[in-house]
Amino acid sequence: AKSAGRDTIAFFDPAMQAAVSASAALGADVRAALQAGDQFSVHYQPLFNQQRCVTGVEALLRWRHPARGAVSPAEFIPIAEDTGLILPLGHWVLEQACAQLAAWAERPETAQLSIAVNVSVRQFRHPEFVDQVIAAIRRHRVAPRLLKLELTESLLADRMEITLEKMDTLKQLGVTLSLDDFGTGYSSLAYLKRLPLDQLKIDKGFVADVLTDPSDAAIARAIIELAHSQGLSVIAEGVATEEQHRFLVDHGCDLFQGFLLAKPMSIGALEEFMDQHRDTATAPLHE
Ligand code: C2E
Ligand code: MG
Ligand code: MG
Ligand code: MG
Repeated sequence: AKSAGRDTIAFFDPAMQAAVSASAALGADVRAALQAGDQFSVHYQPLFNQQRCVTGVEALLRWRHPARGAVSPAEFIPIAEDTGLILPLGHWVLEQACAQLAAWAERPETAQLSIAVNVSVRQFRHPEFVDQVIAAIRRHRVAPRLLKLELTESLLADRMEITLEKMDTLKQLGVTLSLDDFGTGYSSLAYLKRLPLDQLKIDKGFVADVLTDPSDAAIARAIIELAHSQGLSVIAEGVATEEQHRFLVDHGCDLFQGFLLAKPMSIGALEEFMDQHRDTATAPLHE
């Protein structure tokens, strides 16, 4: 009776219980939002080269909940993953990105811009994922290299054979592959050279303290060197100050993303931003 009592107490831990039902409620809301169709949108955060020209953007999902207002992806993406709703949601983002690339292809000043799409592990593992990418590229007639898929290290935790096979197929298609949040997950340097990657993305956690924490500075430098030694480009996310930017430029980082340079914004705001930015930026757009 005593142990049953303890189990009961553990199970009905009020804080845990509240968290469980809150995420169940949010899961139901994600489902409803998908059906409603007008609560999700894609925002775009520009990526800059060393000359501070925009070379592309990262697509970031936004959710405006009818009652709660803006809900952070950090909150709803994990729930969408658990419930499987990330599959339709992720597919929708991919379609939006390819449609946007097609629209940009019409104008010379935007025709070389790339769009990076985040791909969750569950989405990548889905048997139809590669076919969905192929279909989206064909339907919108986009140049495959302008579509960048941001994968995470958690993909490398298991099932490496099938992961490699899928990545190779995507690579052969010409799609650009980037490893997001590099250094925070299941780091497998041995696999790194087998993966057909184009880019490593330094996690914003390392960038945040790059000037104050010598160990983060060393990690950032090591990632830049590692990327270049493998023939990969390297991008830093979360660049928030001029000093961080300078440090990263000085150490050879290729691309930059962060609130210092530009925040994620709606497509309308982005196009306005780029129109203004183009007047001051003269270097050619390339990645
Ligand atoms: P991520 O892919 O690492 O995206 C970068 C995050 O850093 C974005 O947060 C962006 O707004 C934020 N960020 C960029 N620059 C700065 C900065 O200077 N300071 C700070 N504090 N933050 C900065 P966001 O949009 O909240 O997205 C969080 C995460 O949610 C993403 O991290 C990604 O893992 C996930 N996510 C977002 N959209 C999607 C999506 O369409 N599909 C999937 N599977 N995941 C997504
Ligand atoms: Mg990302
Ligand atoms: Mg990231
Ligand atoms: Mg991150």
